[in-house]
Amino acid sequence: MAKRDYYEVLGLSKGATVDEIKKAYRKLAKKYHPDVNKDPGAEEKFKEINEAYEVLSDDNKRANYDRFGFAGEQAGFGQGFSGFSGGFGGMDDLNDIFSSFFGGGFGGGFGQSSRRSNATRPIRGENRYMSLNVDFLDAIHGVDRSIRIEVDKPCEHCHGTGAHSDSDIRTCPTCHGTGQVTRQTRTAFGIMQQVGECPDCHGTGKIIDRKCEECGGSGYIHKREEIDVKIPEGIQSGQQIRVAGYGERGANGGPNGDLYIEINVLPHKYFTRQGNNIYIKVPISSLDATLGCKVDVPTVYGDVELNIPAGTQPNQQFRMKGYGAKDVRSANTGDQYVEIEVTIPKKLSREEKDLYAQLAKRTPRKESVFDKFKRNFK
Ligand SMILES: [Zn+2]
Ligand SMILES: [Zn+2]
Repeated sequence: MAKRDYYEVLGLSKGATVDEIKKAYRKLAKKYHPDVNKDPGAEEKFKEINEAYEVLSDDNKRANYDRFGFAGEQAGFGQGFSGFSGGFGGMDDLNDIFSSFFGGGFGGGFGQSSRRSNATRPIRGENRYMSLNVDFLDAIHGVDRSIRIEVDKPCEHCHGTGAHSDSDIRTCPTCHGTGQVTRQTRTAFGIMQQVGECPDCHGTGKIIDRKCEECGGSGYIHKREEIDVKIPEGIQSGQQIRVAGYGERGANGGPNGDLYIEINVLPHKYFTRQGNNIYIKVPISSLDATLGCKVDVPTVYGDVELNIPAGTQPNQQFRMKGYGAKDVRSANTGDQYVEIEVTIPKKLSREEKDLYAQLAKRTPRKESVFDKFKRNFK
C-alpha cells in the first residue's frame, strides 16, 4: 500500500504551525488509540498517525520531508561524512502527550517513559542542522569559512550543575532524588495513580541552595561565537560537515549535541558537475571543426590546451583525464568532459563569401550528403 502524505494523515496543510500539528495529533491519537478504539484498522491508523507526527514534529525531519518526501526520509542525511547520529526525540514526545491524558506511560508498547526514570541523569542535547551555500569553485578546491552561531555551552564555572559549589547541591527531600512523585486521585472509576514531575525540584531530583553566579543556575551559558569551518576539497551538495558540541544544549549538565552543516553548492555559469566529473560546452567555428585546431579549454585548474582533430562533429565529447573534481572521501579525481558546439556563421564578409563559393564550386560533387539522404525516400 502506498504511504499517505504525512500532512494528509494529520488532516493538515503544508504550512501547518507546530501548534496545529500537535493539536491535530492529540485529537487523532486519542481517537485511534488501541486502548480506546477497538475498530479493525484503528491500530494501523494509530501507527500511521504516530509516524506522521514523529516526522512533522521534528523541525529537521520535517524540512527534509518537505524537500525530499519519503525518499528524503529514508535516505535521511546519511550520505554526509559522519552520517546521522542520535537526536531522536519522538518517543519522549509521545510519552509526554500520553501521560497528559492517560496518566503516565500507557499500556504495553511504550511503557514507562525512559526519560522519567532517567530524569536526573545528564542528557546529551539534540543535534542541530543548518545549510550553507558554497560557490562552485570553492567546493572544488576547498575553502575555510567562518560562521557566526549562537550556542548554549555548559557553564565552565559550575560544570553544568548550576550550583555555586558541589556542597550547595542536596537531594530533593520530596521525591528522594527520583525527580517524580506519585499522586492518587479519586475518580468515578476508582482510585487512579498518577506519576508526575516532582514540583519541588522540577524533575531534577536535586535542590540547589546557592546558585552559580556565572550561569544563574541554569548550568549553561548562552554564547555568540564565530567558528571556523573547513570545507574540504571536492565536497558536493547534500554532504554534511559535523561540528562537535555546537548542537542543542544538553540537560542536567549533559553535553551539547552536534551541529551538522549541509552543503549546498551553487551552480557555475559554465561548469556543471555530476559526481566527480565536470562538464563544459565549448564553441568552435565550423571551419576549426573541419580543419582541426588547438584550443585553450577552461578547467577548474586553469586553461589546458586541447587538440581538436580535423572532422570534429557537433556535440562530440572529449575527455580530459584527471581534470575533474577530487573525491572528498578518496584519492580519486574525476575527469572533465568537453562537448563541442559547432557554430555556423550567420554573417560572412564579402571575402569569406567568395571563398565559400569557390569551395562549393571546387568540391567534387557526384552525390552530396543531402542527395544520399533523399535517396531513402524514393
Ligand atoms: Zn524532587
Ligand atoms: Zn554555572
